Amino acid sequence: MNDGTETAAADPATPNSDSWQLYANCLGVDPDLFFPERGASTKEAKQVCQSCVVREECLEYALANGEKFGIWGGLSERERRRIRRQRALARAAQQTRTA
Ligand code: SF4
Repeated sequence: MNDGTETAAADPATPNSDSWQLYANCLGVDPDLFFPERGASTKEAKQVCQSCVVREECLEYALANGEKFGIWGGLSERERRRIRRQRALARAAQQTRTA
């Protein structure tokens, strides 16, 4: 999703012709839904994401670009932070094993 600070290429609402964003379920959906006020429900946005065919690509994009706000790939900021932490721990463990 786009929080208004991303370039057009990173905005599922204005996709490139060769982009996964072209297939986003959230195209045409109010972007505010994906950037709820603190404490507001994320349920509706997550429902849109649930059947999105590019959910994985969206999530990986958000993780790779350190997106800190909004719902991406059906996950909240907190849920993405947890994944980043888990991956960092897994990388550290892998490095320890190979060192
Ligand atoms: S996973 Fe959700 S936020 Fe990402 S492209 Fe699909 S509908 Fe949009």
